[in-house]
Amino acid sequence: MTKTALVTGAARGIGLATTRTFLGRGWHVAMIDIDGDELRHAASDLENVLVIEADVSDPTQVARMAGEVTAAFGTLDALVNNAGVADFGPIAETTFERWRRVMRTNLDGPFLMAQACLPFMAQPGGAIVNIASISGVRASTMRVAYGTSKAAVIHLSKQQAVEYGGLGIRVNTVAPGPVDTKLALAVHTPQIRKAYHEAIPLNRYGVEQEIANAICFLCSDEASYITGQLLSADGGFQATGVGLPALRE
Ligand code: NAD
Repeated sequence: MTKTALVTGAARGIGLATTRTFLGRGWHVAMIDIDGDELRHAASDLENVLVIEADVSDPTQVARMAGEVTAAFGTLDALVNNAGVADFGPIAETTFERWRRVMRTNLDGPFLMAQACLPFMAQPGGAIVNIASISGVRASTMRVAYGTSKAAVIHLSKQQAVEYGGLGIRVNTVAPGPVDTKLALAVHTPQIRKAYHEAIPLNRYGVEQEIANAICFLCSDEASYITGQLLSADGGFQATGVGLPALRE
């Protein structure tokens, strides 16, 4: 039977690469994004997709979206909570509104989406993948809101994995390292890019497809006994506790 996935933030970047990967494997995909124009443009050359403009942080829009996906798909095999926003700044300059903007999409979104999709997820057999970041594992300056939202998503996944395990639904997290997308280009200066290259054992940024491959693996039956886990697709960045660039030269 044809499998179905829902991908948020599907208009571009990692979400669009994930959508294309599912489609390449014969799945049907519900593409969700807040940016309707970019979403429709991205989907214009794709088949077997359902396109829904919605804000994942708005409970009313999430409920409407869930109704449309159920009507079209009946059952959902995979939910990928990928939509995210980045905001880099020192703590003193992170106003409550900036903090809430990041938390709304990055944390409230995955919570609301999973709650709304659970009733029509395959039980057993459904899979949820939440997208965190290396910033949720390793602390840094300038990321009080972004890093904290992603650390919370990692724990949210564990809560969901433990509670939904009895339903036969698996929940895992993918933590990408830096990937060249619009999100990263907006906040990574040339100096930051150079520093990342030096700090990452594989010595480069990741590409969208490499993250999509990790996501689709965790949604597949090949990962049928894996739940509650964090998979870092980061070129080894997370592993380098005291791996100072100077020590590797
Ligand atoms: P991107 O900015 O290219 O794409 C994000 C998409 O999410 C956009 O299409 C945007 O319109 C959509 N979106 C934002 N807020 C939304 C909302 N409230 N409701 C629905 N859609 C919304 O970003 P990307 O780099 O592809 O990032 C995808 C995910 O990967 C994010 O969760 C991000 O935090 C995470 N991530 C990215 C990197 C990186 O370096 N690019 C690194 C680590 C983690």
